[in-house]
Amino acid sequence: MASLKSVSSLLRIAVKQCPRGWSQRLYSMSASGHKVLSSHGGEQRNLPVDLLSDEEKMMKETVAKMAAEKIQPLVREMDANSHLDSSVLQALFDNGLMGIEIDPEYGGTGSTFFIANLIIEELAKVDASVSVLVDVHNTLINNLIQKLGTQEQKDRYLPRLATDTVGSFCLSETESGSDAFAMKTSAVKNGDYYTINGTKIWITNAEHAGLFMVMANADPTKGYKGITTFLVDRDTEGLSLGKKEDKLGIRASSTCPVHFDNVKVPASNVLGQVGMGYRYAIEILNEGRIGIASQMLGLAEGCFNNTVPYTKERKQFGRRIWDFQAMQHQIAHVATQIEACRLLVYNAARRKEAGEPFVKEAAMAKLYASEVASLTTTKCIEWMGGVGFTKDYPIEKYYRDCKIGTIYEGTSNIQLNTIAKCIEAES
Ligand SMILES: Cc1cc2nc3c(=O)[nH]c(=O)nc-3n(C[C@H](O)[C@H](O)[C@H](O)COP(=O)(O)OP(=O)(O)OC[C@H]3O[C@@H](n4cnc5c(N)ncnc54)[C@H](O)[C@@H]3O)c2cc1C
Repeated sequence: MASLKSVSSLLRIAVKQCPRGWSQRLYSMSASGHKVLSSHGGEQRNLPVDLLSDEEKMMKETVAKMAAEKIQPLVREMDANSHLDSSVLQALFDNGLMGIEIDPEYGGTGSTFFIANLIIEELAKVDASVSVLVDVHNTLINNLIQKLGTQEQKDRYLPRLATDTVGSFCLSETESGSDAFAMKTSAVKNGDYYTINGTKIWITNAEHAGLFMVMANADPTKGYKGITTFLVDRDTEGLSLGKKEDKLGIRASSTCPVHFDNVKVPASNVLGQVGMGYRYAIEILNEGRIGIASQMLGLAEGCFNNTVPYTKERKQFGRRIWDFQAMQHQIAHVATQIEACRLLVYNAARRKEAGEPFVKEAAMAKLYASEVASLTTTKCIEWMGGVGFTKDYPIEKYYRDCKIGTIYEGTSNIQLNTIAKCIEAES
C-alpha cells in the first residue's frame, strides 16, 4: 500500500475496484427486518453488523498506518505539552481526514458516516485528542454545513474545511451546559447583519479553528426557539479566545473559551433558518455522539492492545502473569465488553446511515462505550501493576483520556435521560 498516498485517493481507487454501489447495497438495511442486500445477485440476507466492506477495510488500514507513522511518535510529547503538533494537523488534511463526508466536488473524500466513525476509532487507538479533533470537525461542522448550507456557504466553506481550515462547535456557556438552550449569547439583527455578544466555553479545536459554528439567541422572547446558528470566521473583529484549559486528559486537544464582543456577522452567514438552531444542535449532536462512542471504543481497544502483550512477558511465581486463570478471566471479561461496545457503536452508525431511527442506539452507544473505556483503562493499569501507573507506558494516558467520554456531547446522565425518553415513547 502506498503509505502516504492520500486516503481520499485510495478511497476513490477502492470504490472504483468494487462493483458500483457495492458497499451501499451491502449495508442498506430495510425498515422492517434489518435485512441487507448482498452483492450476490440482489438476494437478501442478514450480514453481521461488524462485517466491513473492502472500502471500509482499506480506509481503516490506511488510517491505522498513517496514525502509526505520523501521530504515534508525537503522542507523549503532545500530551506533556498540551499541544497539537502542526505536522499532525497537516497530515490529517493531506490524507483527506478533514473532509471525510464532504462531496468530492468541494474537495472532500466523499465517503460515508460509517467510515468517518471507523476513522475516529482508529485514531483514538493512538491518540484520543487527535480523534476528537477529527470527530468534531467532520461529524458536527462539515456535516451540518453540507446538510443546511446555502450554495454560497458550501462554495465558500466546504473546500476550506476539507483542505486547510479547522472548525469548532460553540454551544456551551458558563450557565448552560447540560441545559444547553438556557444560553445567554445574543444575536441582534441590524439590517443585513447580526451583532453577536456573549462567551462560549469548553470549545474544542478553538486554538486551531478558522471557522466557528455558533449558537446564539436571535429572539430571547421566543425562548429556545430564538436560537440560531451562525458561521463566524476566526478573523472577524471582536472574536477572541480565552485561556486554554489545562485538562486531566485529551491534553493535546485545545479547549478554550471564545468571546464575542460586538461581533458583526452578515445575515448571509446564518446557517439554515433563523430560530431553528436548537433543533439543528439536537439533531447533529444525536449523530455526533456516535462519533464520541467511536472515540471511546478506539481508546479502549488501543489500551487493551497495548497491555495484553505485557501480561505474556511479565513473570511472577515462575509463570507468565497471563497464565493465572484469575488474569485470563478478567482479560476475557474486558474483551467481551469491548466487543459488545463495538456492536452497539457500529449498529448505531449503520442505522444512521441507513436512515433508520438511531437516537436511542446512539445514546446507548455513547453511554456504554464511555463505561467500557473506563473499565478497560482501569483494568489495564491493574494488569500492568506498578509500571502501568507510570508514564513509561501509555496506559495511564488512556486512563486519563477516557474520562471525557462521560462528559462531552451530553453527560452520561443526559444519555440515560434520552434513552428513557425513547423507551417511554416506544411503550
Ligand atoms: C474537554 C471538553 C471539551 C468540550 N468541547 C465542547 C465543544 O466543542 N463545544 C461545546 O459547545 N461544548 C463543549 N464541551 C462542553 C460539554 O458539552 C459540557 O461540559 C457538558 O455538556 C456538561 O455540561 P456542564 O459541564 O455544564 O455540566 P453540568 O450540566 O453542570 O452537569 C453537572 C452534573 O449534573 C448532571 N446533570 C445535569 N443536568 C441533569 C439532568 N437533567 N438530569 C440528571 N443529571 C443532570 C450531569 O450529568 C453532571 O453529572 C466540552 C467540555 C469539555 C470538558
